[in-house]
Amino acid sequence: MYAATFWRRLLPRSLFTLTSLSAANMANGIVPSRTEDGEVGLRRHPKYWLEDGSLVVRTQGDLFKVHRTILQRHSPVLSSLTGGTFQEEAGRTDGCPTLHLPDELGVDSADFETLLEHLYHDFPLGPDASFPRVASILRTSSKRQLDFPLLHELTRQRLESMVPSDPTAFYEVERPDDMLTLAVDYDVYTIQKALFYTIATHANLQHDEPEGLVPGVSAPKDAEPVEPSPANQFNLSPELTKRCQRLLDDLVAHFTPILFTVATAGHMACTDVFAEQWMPLVIQPALENSGLCRPLETLQTIIDLDWKAQGVCEECVRDKREEWKEEQGTVWEKMNGWLGLSEKQ
Ligand SMILES: [Zn+2]
Repeated sequence: MYAATFWRRLLPRSLFTLTSLSAANMANGIVPSRTEDGEVGLRRHPKYWLEDGSLVVRTQGDLFKVHRTILQRHSPVLSSLTGGTFQEEAGRTDGCPTLHLPDELGVDSADFETLLEHLYHDFPLGPDASFPRVASILRTSSKRQLDFPLLHELTRQRLESMVPSDPTAFYEVERPDDMLTLAVDYDVYTIQKALFYTIATHANLQHDEPEGLVPGVSAPKDAEPVEPSPANQFNLSPELTKRCQRLLDDLVAHFTPILFTVATAGHMACTDVFAEQWMPLVIQPALENSGLCRPLETLQTIIDLDWKAQGVCEECVRDKREEWKEEQGTVWEKMNGWLGLSEKQ
């Protein structure tokens, strides 16, 4: 049981305001203190208030009692914030020097907790780490916040491994919008292309329909609900929304002539099959399923069709599949230029 008088004796008056504790409030973990803004309730973190901790870190309204050396060892920023004369000058909480992380660093309490979970091996950042966990550690370990260089590098690699970088791997990334925002914010270039593609092709962005390209064929008007922005399902900045919109325009412009041009083969008989089946097997399904806006997936559908059963010879099937795979690669490469990623990678 601590009493306010005990602290008053121990500490200089100037520090007393921060560390004034009332026994009644300590019982439920609330440490009231007065700051320049007035009365605020500081909360002892329910998990990271370690009895033998040697440093109290304050983020937002939360207090963490942790081990100074664990934080200092890998972070130049924390090392400088808690080094030198810090011990003597810092206010004290529960007998420990108190580091109030500057608000400018923008360190979120939940993110800091996730960082501690890694540092204390409660939830080390493993290959199966969830995206929110990776995002929290990427932010806190960055130079802008607490600067853990090695951990930051590891976290970037984790983030990169969460998104396939192959044009034939189709992404079922759970939160592509949050991931893209983070990847752009922290310059993780390797995964940006796949994320831009996923969002641009799944956000129901507006694009020009290729009216009149093939006589008698037009996209079913109600096949695709067209929304002016992806805001209804994706949470993206206007700038990123614009980049997705431009990418989709480029994809559609590039892919339209490919989709609407009937494939030709080395043999006349095989070309005849394509001529007959291209409309019902390729164009019509593509128009019904937003296939024009998703070149990679649509090309894969074309590759996977059983052309042999339609009467195309084995040699032509092999040649055409090779060609369509190359076309997937071409789209993938061209995206670098459309997104302006080439010189950065
Ligand atoms: Zn053939």
